[in-house]
Amino acid sequence: MMSNKKFPETIQIGGLDYDLLFIHNLFDGDTKLNGHMESHIARLSVEDGLPDSVKRVVIWHEIIHEILDQAGHSDHDEAHVMALGYGIMAVLKHNDFLRQQSNVV
Ligand SMILES: [Zn+2]
Repeated sequence: MMSNKKFPETIQIGGLDYDLLFIHNLFDGDTKLNGHMESHIARLSVEDGLPDSVKRVVIWHEIIHEILDQAGHSDHDEAHVMALGYGIMAVLKHNDFLRQQSNVV
């Protein structure tokens, strides 16, 4: 378990703070994972061996899962989450104005 200087130690989703951890050889039981959201303890773990660009996609993927879960849509479609994870990251990458800082009115 370690922090990663290129990423924050916590991430806010829906007004809650989640610990953001980077872990080598991330598993849930016998299953190898790229990302693992544990909502009940507000912790998002990411495989540390991934390139940073893939880590960002994984983080977006887990954020979207969490947004849907928080809204009561716990039985959502994995393919939709995949599409939104890659799609939102690509739109943000190519449209600077959408990354406006929150302190700008
Ligand atoms: Zn998923």
